[in-house]
This record gives sequence, C-alpha cells and structure tokens, in this order.
Amino acid sequence: MTVALRFSELYAPTLKEDPSEAEIPSHQLLLRAGMIRKVAAGIYVFLPLAWRSIAKVEQIVREEMDAIGSQEMQMPVVQPAELWLESGRWDLYGPELARLKDRQGRDFCLGPTHEEIITALVRNELRSYRELPVSLYQIHTKFRDEVRPRFGLLRGREFIMKDAYSFHATQESLQEHYDAQAHAYGRICDRLGLKWRPVVAESGQIGGSVTTEFMALAETGEAALVYCECGWAANVEAAETVVPRSPSITVPRELEKVHTPDIRTIAELAQFLGIPEHDTIKTMAGKAPDGQLVFFCVPGDRELNPVKADWAVSGVELLDEEDFDAMRLPKGSLGPVAPPEGTLVIADRSLQGEVAWGIGANENDYHYIGAMPERDFTVDSWTDLVVAEPGDGCPSCGGTVQGARGIEVSQVFQLGTKYSEAMGATFNDEDGNEKPFIMGCYGVGVTRSFAAVIEQHNDENGIVWPVGVAPLEVAVIPLAVGDDEVYPVAERMWRELAEAGVEVIIDDRDERAGVKFADNDLIGFPYQVVVGKKGLAEGAVEFKDRATGERTMLALDEAVEHVAALIAEERARFAH
Ligand code: ATP
Ligand code: MG
Repeated sequence: MTVALRFSELYAPTLKEDPSEAEIPSHQLLLRAGMIRKVAAGIYVFLPLAWRSIAKVEQIVREEMDAIGSQEMQMPVVQPAELWLESGRWDLYGPELARLKDRQGRDFCLGPTHEEIITALVRNELRSYRELPVSLYQIHTKFRDEVRPRFGLLRGREFIMKDAYSFHATQESLQEHYDAQAHAYGRICDRLGLKWRPVVAESGQIGGSVTTEFMALAETGEAALVYCECGWAANVEAAETVVPRSPSITVPRELEKVHTPDIRTIAELAQFLGIPEHDTIKTMAGKAPDGQLVFFCVPGDRELNPVKADWAVSGVELLDEEDFDAMRLPKGSLGPVAPPEGTLVIADRSLQGEVAWGIGANENDYHYIGAMPERDFTVDSWTDLVVAEPGDGCPSCGGTVQGARGIEVSQVFQLGTKYSEAMGATFNDEDGNEKPFIMGCYGVGVTRSFAAVIEQHNDENGIVWPVGVAPLEVAVIPLAVGDDEVYPVAERMWRELAEAGVEVIIDDRDERAGVKFADNDLIGFPYQVVVGKKGLAEGAVEFKDRATGERTMLALDEAVEHVAALIAEERARFAH
C-alpha cells in the first residue's frame, strides 16, 4: 500500500505560539504540530499525524510481543465490580478507579488495568499444567482518574497501554517469561529510538515484589533515579541506599534540654543550635493500621521515604494536621526520647552508632541536644528509611551513585499468586494437586512512550522524528505551487517516492516558503525534498536531513532512488 498524502488535505492545524497550558516540550509540540487536542483534563483527541505515529509504536510493541510468544487479544474497558471485590482492589484502589453504575444500579469501573478480568477468564478455561505457560496481551485504552493529569500524553487520564499477563505452573517458568518480556521491553525502547535504562522499582497498586521499570531518560521526567557505574539503578521511590555520615560530634555528651522558642523546622533548629542539619534528627509520626503511633527517625537533612515507611510498618499512614491536634502531639518538636506510651520507634540505619544529636523533646518549644540511643532512648528497629540521593553509597558495589530523571515508559512485574489465590484461579499440577497459577504482568505505556520519543527528539524548530516512528518519512516541498515547471516535478517525485515504498507527503499548499519550512520542521518529518526553480535550472533538488539540518543537492534523475535507499536503510535500523 502506498502512502502519499497532500498537505492541503491534511488535518493538522499547526499553531505559531506555544500554548500556555503546556509546560514541557512534548506537550507543547504535540499541540503546536496539530497532533493532539485536549477534550478535558488528561483526555485527548489524537489527530491523524499522531495517530499514524501511535500506530507505528503499537506495531513495534506487537512485533516484540509476538516474537516472545505472547498472543494478542482484547478485553473490555468496562469491568464489573464483583471481580474487583474478589481481588480486594475495589476497596484498595481509591479514587483513581473510575466507578459507574449501569441502569440496574450494578457497580462497574473503567479498567485502569486488567488483572481481574484475565484471572477470571483463565480460571474457567485453563485446567492442567500441560496447558501452561500462557501469555496474552492487548493494546487497549485505559482510564485512571489521576490526581494530577499533566504533561499532555505523559500523564493522561485516558491513555493507551499494552498490557500482557502470563500464567505459569512454576516459578522457573515465570522467571523465563519475565526475562523474555524485559528483554522485549529493551528492544521496544531501542526501536522507538529512546535512550533508556532499566531500574529497580516499587510495585505500587499492582502488587508483587520482583519488578523492573524502564525509564526513558529526560530532564522533564517525573521519576527521580539514582544509578551507579556498576550498572545498578533504581527509582528513588524504591532505591535502597547507603547514607554517608560524617557527624560533627563524635564524643558522647550529657543529654541537655534546651528552650527553643518557636522553633518548628529542622532548618530553624540547626540555625538556632549552631549545628549542621545532619547533626539533628527529624522525627515523623505515623499511625499503623491498628492505631499504634509510630515515630520514624531520619537524619535531619534527609527525607523520609513513605514507601520505605510502609515497608517497615505495612499500611502505616503519616499523620495529618487533624491527627496532630486530636493526639495533642507537638508537631515541631517530636523525638524518640520519652515518646507517648506505646510508640514504636523506627530509625534510619545510618544513625546507628552515633553519639549525639539535636532532637525534639516532645514538648512545644523544647529540644534536646546530646541524645544517644540505648542511653537516652530506645529504637525498636533500625532500617533503611530515607529517599536515596546522588552522592549516597551504592547498595550493590559501595561506589557513589549519581542522579538522573526519567519517564517510566514501561514496567514488568512478577505477581506470584496474589491474584490467582484471591480469585481462586487454579490448575492441576503433574501430581494432580490443585495449585494457584503463578502470574506475571507487563505494561507498556503506548501513548506515554510516543510522547517520550518527542521529549528526547526535538529542537528549537520542532519535533525531530526517528524514522521508525515518524508519522511520514519524507516531505516533498515545492517552493512555488503555481509554477508549471516546479510543481509537476515535485508531484512526479512524490508519486515515485510513494511507489518506491516511501511514506511521503507533498506540501501542495499555496503558502510562502517560510511558512512551509516552519510547518514541516515543526511536524518533524525526518527528510525534506525541496523543489525550487533555482535547483531545477541545474537539474537538482535540495535534500534536507531534519535531524542534522544538513542540506545536499541531489540530481533530479537520482533523487528518488537515493531517498528510497536511505529510508530503507533507516527502517532497517529500527526493524525487528
Ligand atoms: P505512574 O507511576 O507513572 O503513575 P504506574 O506505575 O502507575 O505509572 P503501571 O501500572 O505500571 O503505571 O502501567 C504501565 C504503564 O502504563 C506505565 O509504565 C506507563 O507507561 C503507562 N501509564 C501509566 N499511567 C499512565 C498515565 N496516567 N498516562 C499515560 N501513561 C500511563
Ligand atoms: Mg508502573
């Protein structure tokens, strides 16, 4: 099938100015290049150029899934509440899950993910270990009522995801497919032209414990990463860390209570006492599900990682203003010395063995200095509690980690038997015993990946598409549409390029050259063939590489062949 479009017929309303609602390049450029339009917060129309590129992203994902033996299928968007009640997530998922009722008043939701549907499907169909493993995937519209939809397609509420689910009789079989999926995800990133990194991650709402995220590296990315030269890398949400400590006070001293009027923050305390922030301890209060008060103690200059707090005390919630009032706790002066009766004290392991700190006295306007564990207070458990930062020690090799930012484009999870047990999805093993399926799930953000490509491939003039995902590969730009010498040549090249298999558009609009160049650069077709009077007088057309800006003259009778060969070569670079 030949792909030959006319710009005059294309629905791609480009904008001259950056739209004010867009903060980052991919969002600005998608709007400006006439590729997407917003319908409501986090909900977009994909216009023809975007849709062409998204179809290519989907095709790359499809080829990589098919190559590892996952089978494409399609599940419904609307899901009955009963299945979510069975898995326990109807209550756990929170307001991100968009719920609705049908005319009979029955509860449904819009699928944010499909573990429930697929587990319910296979529990009625797969009976024996002989039928396993099975891997199924779909490319599908998801809905998540995100708290802060933003950055255009990077964090939408309605978005396209490829989600795959696999069912296994043994952990070894799961591991094998998980590795194959992870490998496929790397290939998908490569074929999209992304610079990326796999990182240790947190499993969030999906659950399970073994998981890897694939990050497209970008300054604008929402995720903060730490990585080490040894190859270890992690999302700071989940990054184990080794906090370097160099306490100023190394000799034990007396515990001394100090009047610290109106001192509420660590910065104020450090300044008041004339000590560095890292010689103080910050105490954060939380409430365990059974109501027990928990104090988390971290170095004053570090942040408590809520994910790690949850690892320490499952289900713990940090106190809010109301809790502080209700429990009559002095928010700005919390500390582990003489805490309220029954408080569980958990401290960051980097503090272990140090001798003296500035610390809250559990009384407004008072702090201690010289507090020492064991002597002055008890720590119930020492663990890793803080958000990892560049400069920390690498938990894998002991080296020093660096920081980067990224866009999470995909994630793979080993779910184990979490869903199969909850939902009674079992098979008979070799010995005839009934066992829950061992499961994995694997998600690629299709529309997020598409936007991530733009985030990495743009310049001051617009998008710079890698050939593998460009909406079209070549634009033929006649400089004078009315000219009966120029235009027929351009149109002939356009036809011949299409016949040679190149995806090509002709800018047949009766516009000034400047307007055409600006629009074609903005949309970012990888190559432009410019047909003008001057060139033709010498029997040549101009060929421009959008990425490098390099321009060369091509002889008219060789141009089509040259361009087609180049495109074939580029396609091969991005092929399976
Ligand atoms: P995030 O942490 O960014 O909210 P997530 O970890 O909740 O994402 P997963 O459940 O792992 O997302 O979903 C698989 C993939 O779907 C993600 O890696 C991402 O590429 C994509 N995705 C998730 N949420 C969104 C969203 N709101 N908009 C666009 N893509 C999304
Ligand atoms: Mg994820």
